[in-house]
Amino acid sequence: MAIQPWRKGIVTRIQDETHNIRRFWIKVPELDRFDFIPGQFVTLDLPIHEKMNKRWRSYSIASWPDGTNVFELLIVLLDQGAGTTYLFNHVHEGSELTFRGPQGVFTLPDPIEKDLYFISTGTGIAPFRAMTHHLLNNKIPHKNIYLIFGTRTKHDLLYFDELSRLQQEIENFHYLPTLSREKWNGCCGYVHEVYENLVHQKMNGDSELPPAHFYLCGWKNMIDEAKLRITKLGYDRKAIHLELYG
Ligand SMILES: Cc1cc2nc3c(=O)[nH]c(=O)nc-3n(C[C@H](O)[C@H](O)[C@H](O)COP(=O)(O)OP(=O)(O)OC[C@H]3O[C@@H](n4cnc5c(N)ncnc54)[C@H](O)[C@@H]3O)c2cc1C
Repeated sequence: MAIQPWRKGIVTRIQDETHNIRRFWIKVPELDRFDFIPGQFVTLDLPIHEKMNKRWRSYSIASWPDGTNVFELLIVLLDQGAGTTYLFNHVHEGSELTFRGPQGVFTLPDPIEKDLYFISTGTGIAPFRAMTHHLLNNKIPHKNIYLIFGTRTKHDLLYFDELSRLQQEIENFHYLPTLSREKWNGCCGYVHEVYENLVHQKMNGDSELPPAHFYLCGWKNMIDEAKLRITKLGYDRKAIHLELYG
């Protein structure tokens, strides 16, 4: 895939999603439409260091290709994080950003012939939101899709109403938000138990593994643990697709 040039983006809208997560909408004035494959990311060049490669921060595109030149990012403010502190304190509606992309190979299989497990915590939900809308908009045939999103409390749920609505609209799409620090009428605990239980239920005592792709997105701890547990279930490493945020 050819490396995309650096382009100018204009921030057209910013919205708080939780106390430390914001949605940023970015317009690309030099293009009529910004095309990408859902799951891909862009890299921002932020004025936070003299050395070029220390200024770069990547973000998954949280929106889906809609024929416009606007895309959305979902970003969490990290304690002492140079890039996110800049984005939260110095970037406003109307600010200019330099970015490159789309980039990345964290994309859906084509055709989709197996169940898909989308497993994420925090802003790692971004590429899965993009993929899910894309499947719906393009009526892409698929098997079961399990979107398992782990977070602490109801306050930290991202795109909750929207994803609950998609569950009604998309056949075989199962939205499974999972809370680790609050009891509620949805899934409780950590994401790992949720996919393990699903796989076991499907096996129903059988020894044959249900065919599946596991897509993991987010931070190292969750991804390392998931890789371990999925391979322990008996799946091949090739069934696991990763987007590691750090
Ligand atoms: C392909 C890809 C896609 C990504 N997509 C997203 C996304 O959609 N949304 C998202 O929120 N993130 C995403 N990320 C992560 C993102 O690129 C950044 O790594 C993240 O925003 C942190 O950047 P930062 O500059 O704020 O933190 P950095 O300055 O790079 O710091 C990283 C960590 O080190 C800690 N740290 C920094 N300075 C210090 C210090 N002096 N002492 C102690 N600790 C320190 C910070 O607390 C932070 O935890 C993605 C990453 C990749 C690779």
